Amino acid sequence: MTTAQPVPAPGEGAPLRVALLGCGVVGSAVARLMSERQADLRARVGAPLELVGVAVRHLDRPPVPGVDPGLLTTDAEELVTRADVVVELMGGIEPAKGLIQRALKHGASVVTANKALLADHGPELYEEASAQGVDLYYEAAVAGAIPLLRPLGESLAGDHVDRVLGIVNGTTNYVLDQMDRTGADLEVALRQAQELGYAEADPTADVEGFDAAAKAALLASLAFHTRVSASDVHREGIMAVTAEDVAGAAAIDHVIKLLAICERLPTEGGDGIGVRVHPALVPRTHPLASVHGAFNAVFVEARAAGQLMFYGPGAGGDPTASAVLGDLVAVARHKVAGHRGPGESAYANLPVLPMGQVRTRYHINLDVADRPGVLATIAAAFAEHGVSLEGVRQELVGPEFIDPEQDETPQRAEAEGSARLVLVTHSAPDGALAATVEALSSLDTVRNVRAVLRVEGA
Ligand code: NAP
Repeated sequence: MTTAQPVPAPGEGAPLRVALLGCGVVGSAVARLMSERQADLRARVGAPLELVGVAVRHLDRPPVPGVDPGLLTTDAEELVTRADVVVELMGGIEPAKGLIQRALKHGASVVTANKALLADHGPELYEEASAQGVDLYYEAAVAGAIPLLRPLGESLAGDHVDRVLGIVNGTTNYVLDQMDRTGADLEVALRQAQELGYAEADPTADVEGFDAAAKAALLASLAFHTRVSASDVHREGIMAVTAEDVAGAAAIDHVIKLLAICERLPTEGGDGIGVRVHPALVPRTHPLASVHGAFNAVFVEARAAGQLMFYGPGAGGDPTASAVLGDLVAVARHKVAGHRGPGESAYANLPVLPMGQVRTRYHINLDVADRPGVLATIAAAFAEHGVSLEGVRQELVGPEFIDPEQDETPQRAEAEGSARLVLVTHSAPDGALAATVEALSSLDTVRNVRAVLRVEGA
């Protein structure tokens, strides 16, 4: 029988000074976990991590576990000049951007969870970090606790990524999931999300897709070695999704999810990329359909690796702090070893193609006049724009489906003699589909274009 030999402890370096900018949901969890795990972190880094200050706006606050009240300061500008590692958890563009620049100029490595800042100003910050020979890490900026950016940027650095597809915003996933489970309207589901703390009082960044678009930009930059900013991302939020859309999706065994999709698109002139965020129909059999509540999940398709799925909590104090602490340990180890980790890789510089060139499948729901020849006219409009149809289903909504006792409204008369058509296309360019829908709207036989939804994961 052999007995395990003790593993020698790593050499002990001088303490590394850590400055924390922000002590809210994530910052307070980072401070507490740093204090609780002090001994382990010290052993893993090879030097003690010493919290030297915590910048906040208001000093008057209840005690934060792990934070000596004497460390709180409102002078973030001064704090960043006396740290080896700065952890930015304030959010927003300014003063976070200026403080990160100042920290980098003073030779500090930086860890941040600030997706909005990186998606708009990442390149100038990466360049400053590179010029100073320090790290800028941001694992927590996308999908909270889920290790995703390091796998994309480092583990898959030898592979060829074709597609990244996922749910990266927990708030909208909670809202759409509630609508699917309960049949509620979006407003009701959103109010519930706010009551449970899954949505902010001002939910614009989430429901309009800004948050997911910033994350999609970061994912695409890493996956395709190309600079992609939030403004390059085609963005549609969830506010137009109705209970009727969700019920219609359920009727054909689909769910509606807000997806972030980053993909390599071959063109005649070489590869380009498409980056988009929008609601889409996903078959109930697809693994993304079973991502419930505020969870996140991301699929990565790479040539050699095949399909990979990353799943877990995409937000919250402790889960996000886990990713922040992982980065903190990584950059602190580099400091101890006297080097830096890999910097930005944007050599491929692929063009970001306009949404019109992105190809996908569509599900279109029309109210049409119930007369002979209508279907042929509609099929001709699709053919004219080069969009081929995979299937057509007709649902009668004429008088035989209306109970006159229940419905004496003018809409009843309008509904008489109409039919509902549900059309599914083969993969087609988004521009061709948009032109088809415009042409359909102008046909006198088409009374209403009720819904146009992209279909993914089929
Ligand atoms: P939060 O709860 O609003 O906390 C922000 C903290 O920053 C507060 O302590 C605030 O001070 C401080 N702060 C804000 N502006 C400041 C200024 N000008 N000077 C000094 N201090 C300032 O935010 P959070 O939810 O922890 O989010 C922090 C970052 O993590 C954001 O970039 C966010 O996008 C990202 N993130 C959050 C989550 C999550 O689940 N919450 C998940 C992933 C990523 P006061 O307390 O004095 O107001």
